[in-house]
Amino acid sequence: MPATGRGSIMKGDAMQGGGAIKRLFKGGRRDPLDVLRSVYGYSAFRGEQQRVIERVVAGGDAVVLFPTGAGKSLCFQIPALCREGVGLVVSPLIALMRDQVEAMTQLGVRAAALNSSLTREEFLAVRRSLAAGTLDLLYVTPERIVTPAFREMMEGVPIALLAIDEAHCVSQWGHDFRPEYRALGAFAEQFPGVPRLALTATADPHTRDDIIERLRLDAAEVFTTSFDRPNIAYEIAERDQPRQQLLRFLARHPGESGIVYCLSRAKVEETAEWLNAQGLRALPYHAGMDRALRDANQDAFLKEDALCLVATVAFGMGIDKPDVRYVAHLDLPGSVEAYYQETGRAGRDGLPSDVWMAYGMADVVQRRRMIDEGGAADEVKRVERAKLNALLAICETVGCRRQAILAHFGEAHPGGCGNCDTCNTPVETWDGTEAAIKALAAIYRTGERFGTGHLIDVLTGKANEKTERFGHTQMPVFGAGRDIAPGVWQSIFRQLLAGGLVSVDHGAYGALKLEPEARAVFRREREVRFRKDRPQTGRKARAGQAPAARDRSTLSGDDRALFEKLRAERLSIAKDLDVPPYVIFPDTTLIALARERPRDLAELLDIPGIGETKRDRFGEAFLAVIGDFVETM
Ligand code: ADP
Ligand code: ZN
Repeated sequence: MPATGRGSIMKGDAMQGGGAIKRLFKGGRRDPLDVLRSVYGYSAFRGEQQRVIERVVAGGDAVVLFPTGAGKSLCFQIPALCREGVGLVVSPLIALMRDQVEAMTQLGVRAAALNSSLTREEFLAVRRSLAAGTLDLLYVTPERIVTPAFREMMEGVPIALLAIDEAHCVSQWGHDFRPEYRALGAFAEQFPGVPRLALTATADPHTRDDIIERLRLDAAEVFTTSFDRPNIAYEIAERDQPRQQLLRFLARHPGESGIVYCLSRAKVEETAEWLNAQGLRALPYHAGMDRALRDANQDAFLKEDALCLVATVAFGMGIDKPDVRYVAHLDLPGSVEAYYQETGRAGRDGLPSDVWMAYGMADVVQRRRMIDEGGAADEVKRVERAKLNALLAICETVGCRRQAILAHFGEAHPGGCGNCDTCNTPVETWDGTEAAIKALAAIYRTGERFGTGHLIDVLTGKANEKTERFGHTQMPVFGAGRDIAPGVWQSIFRQLLAGGLVSVDHGAYGALKLEPEARAVFRREREVRFRKDRPQTGRKARAGQAPAARDRSTLSGDDRALFEKLRAERLSIAKDLDVPPYVIFPDTTLIALARERPRDLAELLDIPGIGETKRDRFGEAFLAVIGDFVETM
């Protein structure tokens, strides 16, 4: 096995010895299905993959809008292997390129990256292999691909295609806008006749239109699939003791990797420290950290098997780790789009994954304040408020979460997904009109000058210094809500706030104020129903499981033991090669190996994810683990 260092972007092995695939497929008719089977070790295309690939192989343009994990990479990698010339791939992050080059190299594909991290020698090596026609894929940064120097270097070099990955970066609508992407539209003229594809996991129509217009893809066929992520189990819990709740959630995932998102850098640091004190290996990641330390933590997350990364939203874009088994949110994200994107980092490999969020009154207050006190124009603030409200509606829904999330993206789902908390444990609701009127009256009578704590004291008739001083003990509303526990009042105020019946006055220390919509409730023209918040049991949300995804937790005792041995072997090989373990094999492959227990190299090829190169490189090592295991049984 060649020891390839991560430091070198150019893999010696890939550059010289890896000609097998070209030899197989670059002469005569290259069949995409053959490539899928012999290189990737997969038996069939998924969804629209085949149609995209056929179009690009035939020289057409494509816009590919698939959710994370749907298999976008194959849509450009396979045509690049089937067509004459090198496939150019524009990618916004060096880390992303590095990962893809590693993965391609392990598959026996000759891939390299051109970016600012290259040494002079590495750069010259890329140039030589381009000239010699021995590269299948070249990853390039958007800055570089539009330079005259690059055009010069490509003179006389046949180009199979241009793939623009993370194409939503061209649009100002999202959060990942990269101005350099704008210049990529010129590629069509600079390299006429080269088929182009733009790929993204962002579905919204604004972004799609921007991609087509800015990248001049009017002639492209647009391919979309459902944005549902059936293997992700959604759960949103009322926040009660967030750290204990988090610990219970993490306890469902021993030995697995995941991400915990927090809003602030300070909270990231504290949470990571606290988790370590609880005996869980956790590392922090945020934009304020020393660059080297941040990179080291990201690298550890990619290369270790069981690590919890505690991060701000600065972390995640371009993280291709397929076996992120959970994503937790300790704070509310800013929009449904952000929630979908952040939770979407779980389960790229299609195996069951859990996402969980703790949510409470404080989130609503904090998020609204961030909008109100931010420097944005009124029009922008209005849009941000609407975005936040859409997310709050998903938090408070009593229906299927998946249905609500997909509806936000304009996709109809019948509901009853069986893989979200509200489906697995239906939420009870109660007619809260009377209670709502009392709560609103308490706000109104006390002059819209007090926060939740004081209002609850008034409603439950708690005589103390403050209620006495303001004369609130003399009011009819004092004690009018004694029949309801203070904790339930908390939940009522949160739901009134989320539902837009009341708002928070940040200038007045979080005092609650009435919104115009409250009037209809006072007049009994509008009924109010509240969710019954349920106690936190730390119950597993994964009762009804995504049918297609078979989890390692469903492995029988023996298979499970073998899986762990295979996993150890994978980690040891990955360490030797200094690559992330998933670059060797994804978990799905290890699960199939543990179940099927192939006996020889021929049987190995029946395992999904084992193509010819990986069979040759790693086959013997994994067969030996299986052989030893069977013998000692
Ligand atoms: P995306 O870029 O859309 O998020 P990837 O291209 O990373 O998704 O693919 C997600 C996972 O699915 C990868 O592990 C990939 O190898 C696997 N995959 C893609 N296409 C197929 C297929 N046709 N059959 C089996 N596995 C596939
Ligand atoms: Zn559901």
